[in-house]
Amino acid sequence: NHQIVLASRPKGEVTPDNFRLVEAQLPPLAEGQVRVRNHYLSLDPYMRGRMNDSKSYAASQPLDEVMIGGTVGEVVESRNANFAAGDKVVGMGGWQEYFTVDGGQRGVLSKVDTTHIPLSAYLGAVGMPGVTAWYGLMKIINPKAGETVVVSAASGAVGSVVGQLAKARGARAVGLAGGADKCRYVVEELGFDACIDYKQHADLKSLSAALKAECPNGIDGYFENVGGMILDAVLLRANAFSRIAMCGMISGYNGEPIPLTYPQLILTNRMKVEGFIVSEHMEVWPEALKELGGLVASAKLKFRESVAQGIASAPEAFMGLLKGRNFGKQLVKLV
Ligand code: NDP
Repeated sequence: NHQIVLASRPKGEVTPDNFRLVEAQLPPLAEGQVRVRNHYLSLDPYMRGRMNDSKSYAASQPLDEVMIGGTVGEVVESRNANFAAGDKVVGMGGWQEYFTVDGGQRGVLSKVDTTHIPLSAYLGAVGMPGVTAWYGLMKIINPKAGETVVVSAASGAVGSVVGQLAKARGARAVGLAGGADKCRYVVEELGFDACIDYKQHADLKSLSAALKAECPNGIDGYFENVGGMILDAVLLRANAFSRIAMCGMISGYNGEPIPLTYPQLILTNRMKVEGFIVSEHMEVWPEALKELGGLVASAKLKFRESVAQGIASAPEAFMGLLKGRNFGKQLVKLV
């Protein structure tokens, strides 16, 4: 069983020597346990935070242990009445080829139906990123028809779902993404009304002018994934009583400070700014997954994946995700 463990904690940017590829024997299964062969491993920005040992909303990743992470795969052996060989499952299998778990523990392993939804989608649009988009949009921004919703990292796992759900609710969806290819995809494939290539705008004045052009009626909701100049530019165009769902600030995950230029606009515009962690809202998951699953099965919700091959490619793919080299949900294919 090939595994990737955390070898050292990054100082600033993640480097290859923060990880180590090891091989471990698979132990015989104990009563109640299930063995899963992981088909796909999910790489997610939150893993960067877990690599630090500073205090955060979640415990840090212990050194020399298998990197945590969501996985989908197939049960290959079971000594648990609730699972049988051949079952397709989603769980927190970590950066490894096989995953052995007590099938009785609540929430650690769930069976999924792959008749109309591809297995990998349970790590993206019909998984944690999809629910994240759903929660921030429905519960915090709660857009009305005709309102304008802006989302950063719009071509990514979370952002792509945010814009499509906003459109389905009759809102105007405007994305921000890095590069012409990503922007073209966001508009032409995902159906956003517009997408701004933020890399074409060197300063706040220019970015804010681009937002003004694409959001002629101002901004009513902003789904924040990035932080920095984009947030400043959005604040300059925000309407009275607009809402910001603070989902992620990937531009600061290596520890850089993220200055805010005009916080007074939050006051003068009487804005609601709310941060959230999707795993603390388990009560919405069934409803959100049902809606997202239905939309994916009927091809109304589109998504895209960046797939790295083999467990050894995970560190490089993860470093790419933190630099925007992914285009869509970042996965590692193991089988
Ligand atoms: P994505 O698939 O969106 O990939 C990350 C993207 O971030 C990159 O492709 C890149 O897109 C963009 N990006 C923008 N600025 C930077 C920068 N300075 N450095 C690196 N990347 C940048 O990832 P996810 O959809 O999985 O996650 C999106 C956000 O949602 C993240 O901030 C994540 O932490 C957050 N999140 C929060 C959760 C919560 O519970 N609060 C749960 C899940 C995710 P581009 O090339 O367009 O710039």
